[in-house]
Amino acid sequence: MSAPSTVLITGGAGFIGSHACAELLDHGYELIVVDDYSNSAPQVFARVQRVAGRFVGAVYELDIRDRQALSAVFDRHSVDAVVHFAGLKSADASTRRPVEYYDTNVGGTTALLRTMHAHGVHQLVFSSSCAVYGEAGLAPLDETAPTRPTSPYATSKWTCERILADVCRHRPEYSVVCLRYFNPVGAHPSGLLGEDPRGTPDNLMPYLAQVAAGRRERLRVFGDDYPTPDGTAVRDYTHVMDTVEAHRVALDRLADAPGLHVYNLGAGRGSSVLDVVRAFSRACGRPLPYEIAPRRPGDVPALVADASAVTRDWGWHPSRDLDDMCQDAWRFQRLNPYGYEGSARRPNTDRRANGGLPNR
Ligand code: NAD
Repeated sequence: MSAPSTVLITGGAGFIGSHACAELLDHGYELIVVDDYSNSAPQVFARVQRVAGRFVGAVYELDIRDRQALSAVFDRHSVDAVVHFAGLKSADASTRRPVEYYDTNVGGTTALLRTMHAHGVHQLVFSSSCAVYGEAGLAPLDETAPTRPTSPYATSKWTCERILADVCRHRPEYSVVCLRYFNPVGAHPSGLLGEDPRGTPDNLMPYLAQVAAGRRERLRVFGDDYPTPDGTAVRDYTHVMDTVEAHRVALDRLADAPGLHVYNLGAGRGSSVLDVVRAFSRACGRPLPYEIAPRRPGDVPALVADASAVTRDWGWHPSRDLDDMCQDAWRFQRLNPYGYEGSARRPNTDRRANGGLPNR
C-alpha cells in the first residue's frame, strides 16, 4: 500500500488543525476540511494558503455529529485517511458541561467512525491527550503508564481511545494512531498562523501572549505549593510545528501499519509555569506580571512525556525548544493582536486577571 494522498481533516480551522493543513499541503497531500467553526474562523484558510502556497482543496462547514452532512462529503470525495482534530478541549469547562464534552468528543468520534466505515475508509489519526494519564509523578511517562483521567474532557479522550482499540481489535482493516499530545504551543514561524482562542484563553501560553500584548493585566498562576522544584505545575510543552510534523509522519506510515498505535508526543522535558513566564518574558523583552492564586480542582502537579517510542518506531522527535515556542507565539500575537478576525474581536477583550493554567 502507498501513503494516503487525500486526507479529510476534521477541525482543520482550529489551532493544531490549521498548522497541520499547512504542513500536509506543503508535503503534497490533497486536503478536505470539515469544521463547524465553534472555536475557529474560516479566515484561517487564506492564511494557510499564504503559508503553503496552495489552497485547501475543499472546506465544509458542518458539525461532525451530523452524519448525513458528513456522509455527503465522503460521497463527494475519495478520502484515503482522516485526521480527527475536531473536539472540545478545556478540562476546566468540561467539569461544568460534561454531557456536551461527551457528546462532541465521543459522539463526534463515533459518528465519524460510522461514516468512515460506510465509505470504506480505515485510516485514522486521532488527537488524544496527556490528560488521559491524570495524576502522575515528576518522572517521564511512557505509553504503558496507568491512565487515570481526572476530568470529563480527559475521560472523553480515554473513551475514544478505548473505542478505537476495540475497532482495531475486531476489524483488521483499520490502521489507527492515537497521538497523546503534551501541550502543543507556539505558532507557525511566519507569524501568519497561531492560536486564536475565542473569549478568555483557557491555556497558559495564549493567556501569557495576551498579557504581553497588553490585552490582559496579569497572569494568575494556579498553585505554588505543588511538589515540584518551584512549586508551580510542571508540563511538557511541544512546539505545534513539531506536533503537526508527527501527523505527517503518521500519515506517511499509516498505510503500512495496521492495528492501533498509541504514542506520546512530547519533548521529554518538564517546564514549570514560572519557567514559561520567564521564557515568554525573554521573547517579548519585558518581565510579565503574574500573581499566585489557589490551585484549581482537577489540576495535577506534573505531566512529562517519555516520547522515545515514536522516535524509535517512526523517527519523529521534536526539534524546537521552549524559547522557540515563546518567540513564535509572541510573533503571532504581535502581528495579530486581535487574532484572525482583527478588530471584530475587540469587544471581547477582557483585562481581568485570570488563566495561569498549563494546557491539557
Ligand atoms: P481547537 O479548538 O483550536 O480546534 C478544534 C477545531 O474543531 C475547531 O476549529 C472547532 O471549531 C472544531 N470543532 C469542534 N467541535 C466540532 C464539531 N462538533 N464538528 C466540527 N468541528 C468541530 O483545538 P486544538 O488546540 O487545535 O486541538 C485539536 C484537538 O487536539 C482537539 O481534539 C483537542 O482535544 C486535542 N488536544 C489539544 C491540546 C492542546 O493543548 N491544544 C492538547 C491535547 C489534545
